[in-house]
Amino acid sequence: MKTNEALLIIDYTNDFVADNGALTCGAPAQALSDSIASLATTMHEQGSWIYFPTDVHKPNDPYHPEAKLYPPHNVRGTWGSELFGSVNDWYQQNQSAERVLRFDKTRYSSFAGTDLDLRLRERRVDTLHLTGVCTDICVLHTAVDAYNKCYNLVVHRDCVATLSKAAQDWALNHFQNCLGAKVVD
Ligand code: ZN
Repeated sequence: MKTNEALLIIDYTNDFVADNGALTCGAPAQALSDSIASLATTMHEQGSWIYFPTDVHKPNDPYHPEAKLYPPHNVRGTWGSELFGSVNDWYQQNQSAERVLRFDKTRYSSFAGTDLDLRLRERRVDTLHLTGVCTDICVLHTAVDAYNKCYNLVVHRDCVATLSKAAQDWALNHFQNCLGAKVVD
């Protein structure tokens, strides 16, 4: 059993993944769906925790820093904020399980303003597997906070995507060379 490990599936929603999502990474993100779902199944069977830190916004919130940067996305209650594809199927089938949790976040990092760190410490989790989108934005900011809090990091290359190949390559290098993450295939 690997009860000291957690899988974070970050922001894998229609707005970030689907063709007509508001802020979509498109095909490279859509291609991750089955790999992420299958990793969730494997890790859940091994006794690990499966968490879905998910961006949520209010419509037209002038105080949110992202309002200046992006079009509205992941607005609570909308289609765009629902999980995508087989990841959504997996979540629908397993959401009531004790070790599965979707929770809101409002910043890039899954730790910012959430109880994630407390939740992980309560459960004696010391190793985080990072998946989802965007590799160089929300996955990266989550990884930086996790690094500062001394979690071991594993990044699954076939389970993260972003808007450009250059950004993807830069972020994967950064995980490995600056945050000490294991980048695995
Ligand atoms: Zn956002």
